[in-house]
Amino acid sequence: MSQKRIAIFGSTGSIGTQALDVIKANPELFSAEILTAQSNDELLIKQAMLFNPNIVVIGDEKKYQTVKAALAQTSIKVFAGEDALAEAASIDCYDMMLAAIVGYAGLKPTLNAIELGKPIALANKETLVVAGDLVMQKAAEKRVAVIPVDSEHSAIFQCLVGEGRNKIEKIILTASGGPFLGKKPNFLVNVKRDHALQHPNWSMGAKITIDSATLMNKGLEMIEAKWLFNLDAHQIQVVIHPQSIIHSMVQFEDGSIKAQMGLPDMKLPIQYALAFPQRIANNFPRYDFKKPGTLTFEEPDMKTFRNLALATEALYKGGNMACVMNAANEMAVFAFLRNRIGFLDMTEVVEQTMNKIAFIEKPTLQDYFDSDAEARNFAASLLHM
Ligand code: NAD
Ligand code: MG
Repeated sequence: MSQKRIAIFGSTGSIGTQALDVIKANPELFSAEILTAQSNDELLIKQAMLFNPNIVVIGDEKKYQTVKAALAQTSIKVFAGEDALAEAASIDCYDMMLAAIVGYAGLKPTLNAIELGKPIALANKETLVVAGDLVMQKAAEKRVAVIPVDSEHSAIFQCLVGEGRNKIEKIILTASGGPFLGKKPNFLVNVKRDHALQHPNWSMGAKITIDSATLMNKGLEMIEAKWLFNLDAHQIQVVIHPQSIIHSMVQFEDGSIKAQMGLPDMKLPIQYALAFPQRIANNFPRYDFKKPGTLTFEEPDMKTFRNLALATEALYKGGNMACVMNAANEMAVFAFLRNRIGFLDMTEVVEQTMNKIAFIEKPTLQDYFDSDAEARNFAASLLHM
C-alpha cells in the first residue's frame, strides 16, 4: 500500500489524537496532510510541528496570529475561521478525510470532501443524524466510500465484509449503558456534570460522554446505522452489554448472527477505517477468554432514559426530525456541561424542541440548515441563553 495522506478534521480531540497515534505508529502507511482544531491552538501547533502537514486550520479566528507565528519557520499553510475549515476540505491535497469534529460543525467539511471525491473515515455521527439521506446520496453519486469509525458501526461494517448481497435481517447495536445503568429518575435528577463525565469503559470527548450517560448516543447511533447500512427503522435493535466486548452484531436472513469483538479501544476502529481493506498488525492489549468474566445483555430502560425513546421516534419519523433533535441535544448538552441545567432537563429541551419545530418530510440541504438554526434558537429560548 502506498502512503495514504489523511486530512484530520478535529485533530485535537479524542478521536483526532488517537488517529495521530495510529499515523505515528505507521509512518510508511499514512501521513497527516490537514489538521484542524476549534480552539486548542497549543496542541494544534504541537501536532503541526510533529507531523508537518500541508495545511492547518484553527476555527477560532482570534488564535490565527498565534498559530501563524508559531509555524512561521515552516512551509505549513495556516487558515482560520469556520469558512476556511469547510474550504480546506475542498483542497485536493489528501486521499482520505477523517471526520472527527464533534457535532453539526462537521457536516459542511465532510460534504465538501465527498464533493471532491475523497473517501471518508467517519467518526462524526452527527453528520449522518442531521442529513444522512443527502450525505449518503452524494457519496453514492461521487462513488465515495464512507467507512465508519464509531465502534458499533465499525463492528457491523466488519461483519458485512464478504457478505456481498446477502440480506441483513437486523442489526443489534450494543450499548454499555453508561455510568448510570440501572439508575432511576429519582437518582438522575441530582446527577452533576462531573459524575456524568465518568464513563466506565471509554475515555472520549465531553459531548459524546454526556450523550452516553443519557443514552442519546445510542439513539444517534441508530440513525447513523440506518443511513450507513441502508436499513429500515425496524431492523435496528439496541441491547445493553455493559462489558463493551461485543461491539455490535448483524443477524442475516438465515438467523445466523455475526459479532465483532475486542477490548474497548477506539484506535482499533480508527486504524481499520484508515487502512481498509487491510488490517494493520499492532500490540494493543488482547481480550483474554481465560480470565473469569461474563458477557451479559439486557433491554435498555427507555422509560428512564427517555432520550432513546425520542431518538427512536426521530428514526421512525424521518424527515428533518433527527436534525431538529440533534440541534436541541447539542444545545442541552452544552448547557448541562456548564451546570446551567440538570441531567433530566436535557431530555425536556429535546422533546419540547421536537414538538415545536415544523416537520418537513423531504428536506433539502437548505431545509436542514434552517431546521438546525430554528431548533437551536428555540432550545436557546428554553435554556434562557
Ligand atoms: P472531542 O470533543 O474530543 O474533539 C472534537 C474535535 O472537534 C476537536 O478537535 C475540536 O477542536 C473540534 N471542534 C469542536 N467544535 C468545533 C467546531 N464548532 N468547529 C470546528 N471544529 C470543532 O470529540 P471526540 O470525542 O473526539 O468526538 C469526535 C466525533 O467522533 C464526535 O462526533 C463523536 O460522536 C464521534 N465519536 C467519538 C468517539 C470517541 O471515543 N471519542 C467514539 C465514537 C464516535
Ligand atoms: Mg459508538
